[in-house]
Amino acid sequence: MKRIAYFGGTFDPVHNGHLSIARSLVPLFRLDRFFFLPAFHAPHKSDREPTSAFHRFAMLSLATRSDPAIAVSTLELEKGEKRYTIDTLSELRLLHPEAKVFFVMGADSWADIRTWRDWEDVLLSSNHIIVTRPGYEIGIGHVTDAVRERIVDLRAADGTTDENSKDKMIYITDAVRYDASATEVRDDLGDGRLDNKEDIPAEVANYIEKYELYR
Ligand code: ATP
Repeated sequence: MKRIAYFGGTFDPVHNGHLSIARSLVPLFRLDRFFFLPAFHAPHKSDREPTSAFHRFAMLSLATRSDPAIAVSTLELEKGEKRYTIDTLSELRLLHPEAKVFFVMGADSWADIRTWRDWEDVLLSSNHIIVTRPGYEIGIGHVTDAVRERIVDLRAADGTTDENSKDKMIYITDAVRYDASATEVRDDLGDGRLDNKEDIPAEVANYIEKYELYR
């Protein structure tokens, strides 16, 4: 059975925190494919209009070009309108009827999960991987008993993943601890400060400069 992960987000821009998640989870969960899944417009982030989908896609493609297992999905971008995760997950089931699909999110998304449309169905209708993020605690008090029953806490589990677990589980892993945020990268680029360039790959930094983004 193929094992495929989808990592949803705005990726405005993609940074090394996102990339280290992809690179850690591929071996840890023995994934055949890890897809970044850029949102056309993240439905729960309405405070700021994201950079054009073309630019966000291009930066993701550049950042992942040397990793054969890591790719960019255009599933949500092609819709050309806001997509909710619950609808995307239904489509992924149709797209990969034979595969084990994992949906990936960071600790801050997990903390906010109750703001997502049909959040409980989202959590119960797929496998999920919740990754730690510096500065955010991973609590489990905000979800329902049905969701809590499906949590497999892999923190301090030393490489064990989902060998003995059923389908549609929620894995918590601390395999990744990388302190970076797209908001910080944008703010620093906007201020003309270059120090956050260490949080984005060189090809993404060059692209941002060439197309004069985040000024
Ligand atoms: P912003 O700072 O603008 O909120 P972001 O850095 O969180 O952006 P998104 O594209 O919004 O980037 O994030 C996509 C997903 O990646 C979310 O699930 C988020 O929790 C997760 N994520 C982003 N950065 C990290 C990080 N450093 N560690 C763990 N998870 C992260």
